[in-house]
Amino acid sequence: MAGIKIGGINKFYGDTQALFDVNLEIEDGEFVVFVGPSGCGKSTLLRTLAGLEAVSSGTIEIDGTDVTRAEPADRGLAMVFQSYALYPHMSVRENMDFGMKVNGFDPALREERISEAARILQLEDYLDRKPGQLSGGQRQRVAIGRAIVKNPSVFLFDEPLSNLDAKLRVQMRVELEGLHKQLAATMIYVTHDQVEAMTMADKIVVLNGGRVEQVGTPMELYHKPNSRFVAEFIGSPAMNVFEPKGELRDLSLDASAAYVGCRPEHIELVPSGDGHLDATVKVHERLGGESLLYLGMQSGGEIVARVGGDDATALGQAVGLRFPTDRLHQFDGAGRAI
Ligand code: ADP
Repeated sequence: MAGIKIGGINKFYGDTQALFDVNLEIEDGEFVVFVGPSGCGKSTLLRTLAGLEAVSSGTIEIDGTDVTRAEPADRGLAMVFQSYALYPHMSVRENMDFGMKVNGFDPALREERISEAARILQLEDYLDRKPGQLSGGQRQRVAIGRAIVKNPSVFLFDEPLSNLDAKLRVQMRVELEGLHKQLAATMIYVTHDQVEAMTMADKIVVLNGGRVEQVGTPMELYHKPNSRFVAEFIGSPAMNVFEPKGELRDLSLDASAAYVGCRPEHIELVPSGDGHLDATVKVHERLGGESLLYLGMQSGGEIVARVGGDDATALGQAVGLRFPTDRLHQFDGAGRAI
C-alpha cells in the first residue's frame, strides 16, 4: 500500500494545456475522488499517475519513489476503466488470469489470487462464464477482480460506474466502499458525478479547467466551499447564488460581497414581509419525502428551497425567505469565498 505525492504537474497536448501546476498529497489507504465537469482534466490527471500519459513537467512519487518517468507496469498500480475492457472470448477466470499468466506468475499463486478475488467480489459461481453471460454489475466486478489479482499498491478507477443503471450504481458504490475497507488500499476514483464523490470519498479533489479548485473531505466542501464554483458543483439541487440587490433586507454583508449563496435545505420559509427577501412560489415539486419550491424573486431571479414532503405552501403564494447567518455564503466578484 502506498501514498502518492504529486508535485507541480503541468500537462500539454500540443498547444492545449490540460493540467496547470497540480500539487496533491494522497495518504496511504485513502479513497480519493477527482471530480469536476467534463474536460476539467480529471482523466488526464489519472492517466499521468498511471503512466499512460507523460507529464510535461512536475513529479509523481509513489510510496516515496519518483515514478515520473517509470513505465505503467513498474508503478504498482492497477486501473479499472469505464469500458471494462474484458476479453469476450475468455471466461471470468481467464480474464482475471490473463495479466498474471502473461507476466509468468507461478500457476499456484495465480489460482490463489483468482480464488481470493472471486471470494471478495462474490464471483465464485461465475468463474467459468464468459462476460456475455454476466449482468453489467457482474462484468464490472470482473474488471475490478482483474485489478485485485495484480495486488497493486494503488487502484485507479476511471468513471467505472457510468455504464450502469441508477439502482446498480448505488449498489456498486456500496460494494466499492466495502472493498476499500476490506483491502485497505489507496484508491483514486474519477467521476463527473458529485454524488459519487460525496458518498465514497475520504477526500475530494475538485478540478476546474485543469486546476485544483479545492481539496477537502465531502463535508468540508459542502459547508466551506472556497469558491462559487465548488459551492455550485457540490450539492443537489445546487446552492442558490445570486447578486444581493436592493430587495434583500436586514442582512449584514461583507462590503466586497458580489454574490451571496444559500443551500436549498438551509432556507427558512417565513410569512411574507418577514425574513430577508420576499418571493412567490412558482413551482411546488413534490418528491414524496421532501419538496422543492421554485421561488420567484422580485428582481426576476429564482431561488430553490427544500422543504418537508408535507409542506402545504400553495402555488402563487407570497412567502418570506430567511437565510440563517451561519448558513450564508458570500463570494467576491472573482467567485472566491469571503
Ligand atoms: P475530463 O476527464 O475531466 O473530462 P480530460 O482529462 O479528458 O477531461 O481532458 C482535459 C482537456 O485535455 C480537455 O480540454 C481535452 O480536450 C484535452 N485532451 C484530453 N486528451 C487529449 C488528447 N489526447 N489530445 C488533445 N487534447 C486532449
